[in-house]
Amino acid sequence: MATRQVVVIGGGIAGLAAGVRLVQLGIKPIVVEKRPFLGGRAYSFIDSETGIEIDNGQHVFVGACDQFLQYIKDIGAWDQVRLEERLALPVLKNGRLSWLRARKLPGLLANLSALLGYRHVGIRGKLWILWGLLSIRLTRLGPGSPHDNILFEDWLRDHGQNDETIRNFWNLIILPSLNDDISVVSAYTGIMLFKIALLGPVGNPAMGVPLVGLSTLAGENARNFIERHGGEIRTGVDVASLKIDDARISGVLAASGELIEAEAVVSAVPATSLTPLLPGGTSESSGPDDFFTPAETIKTAPIVAVHIWYDRPVLRQKYMAVLDSPLQWVFNDTDLKSRDDGGGQHIVISLSGAWEWKDRSKQELRQIFTTEMARIFPDTQTATITKFTVVKMLEATFRAVPGTQEARLSQRTPLPGLYLAGDWTDTGWPSTMESAVRSGNLAAEYVAADIGTGNLNPSIP
Ligand SMILES: Cc1cc2nc3c(=O)[nH]c(=O)nc-3n(C[C@H](O)[C@H](O)[C@H](O)COP(=O)(O)OP(=O)(O)OC[C@H]3O[C@@H](n4cnc5c(N)ncnc54)[C@H](O)[C@@H]3O)c2cc1C
Repeated sequence: MATRQVVVIGGGIAGLAAGVRLVQLGIKPIVVEKRPFLGGRAYSFIDSETGIEIDNGQHVFVGACDQFLQYIKDIGAWDQVRLEERLALPVLKNGRLSWLRARKLPGLLANLSALLGYRHVGIRGKLWILWGLLSIRLTRLGPGSPHDNILFEDWLRDHGQNDETIRNFWNLIILPSLNDDISVVSAYTGIMLFKIALLGPVGNPAMGVPLVGLSTLAGENARNFIERHGGEIRTGVDVASLKIDDARISGVLAASGELIEAEAVVSAVPATSLTPLLPGGTSESSGPDDFFTPAETIKTAPIVAVHIWYDRPVLRQKYMAVLDSPLQWVFNDTDLKSRDDGGGQHIVISLSGAWEWKDRSKQELRQIFTTEMARIFPDTQTATITKFTVVKMLEATFRAVPGTQEARLSQRTPLPGLYLAGDWTDTGWPSTMESAVRSGNLAAEYVAADIGTGNLNPSIP
């Protein structure tokens, strides 16, 4: 096993994935995390008001997230997630439930067949959607693609889409996936998303959900894996800066004054937290050609989760999208986690691109969302609300607005010994757990290629 020391800064999914991959490559890393717990933006906690473990936000994934799913298998957590076989999405509009459901057909036809029974778009609209999907299939995306500089909604309207198809189909997928309304996201990310999801194999758009709290799923399983294979996890270590000697990274300096020496460092912190770690605390002084500067332009978007506990079941489905309502997406956490909530039901309303809600008080949100639940789901009118809470994540994801693609940095930097991971680095994927895992894998592989691996242990998956 290599004795060379590799430090990973950040115990979010990207940093943990880097740690897992390094272990698999025969290198024992030290993963340092400033908070007392792992998981980064994907964590669960005991809510002080209700005493119940809740996630900081509903996390879902799709079958196309192949590296995330492999990571889940590698850390031994496969039985803690559930993945559907194919696309099956219940969508409610004006009291009418309709499904986007892929049929058992060969190849692409399976995913496209989901449109057939979908009643929230008329026949003409469906034909235009097929035209839009064909146009997406024929569009090439690459480095410097002009699609990063135009809005997806403009691109769609140029390709025959109207208000009906945009609101009832395209934005139904875009808003929760990119955490921003379709009117502000780049055509690059929108096109990329539909290419992977709907225009890929039948399993690609199939939805998956965690069956346990996020801190267990994303944090503790990875901790066990890394520690079991000789790596180290240290929480409560706030890295203040990188140490550089002779123009190469030689370690990290913690805010406590502790120096941890390293031959290579993987920074797996969010884009907004990178600059203060760089020499002099600025991106300009840290590398040739202002390599790091573009990352400073990456902005973030909020997600607000409204949690309501009813004293009886109010939602039969495990989750549901709701059109023409502020509800957006509603999750039945009791069923998803197979929990006994004493005959009641824990409902999570996940509000993406939550610009309108992020500054509202808990009281206001309670008034708005319990009233809306009563309007949309009549069963709630006779139910009693036993608990209520709100979780606001103001910097939940990085924004997929035009120009973002250019700002995403490579995992290998011009500063010798420094590597980057994080969902925001250049993976091609939007701000997701899949992007985080991909970035961690890439960073670890660059480290191993540059400093050499240890004795690869074939018994490690
Ligand atoms: C409410 C919400 C809902 C979401 N829903 C989904 C979803 O449905 N599907 C999906 O795929 N993704 C979803 N995401 C996005 C997903 O959580 C992120 O893409 C992913 O967790 C990012 O992981 P990361 O490791 O890149 O960054 P982070 O999770 O931000 O990890 C960075 C870590 O670095 C640590 N750190 C920062 N600075 C320092 C320092 N100086 N020293 C030491 N440690 C430091 C931080 O404390 C943090 O733990 C959601 C996010 C939120 C917040």
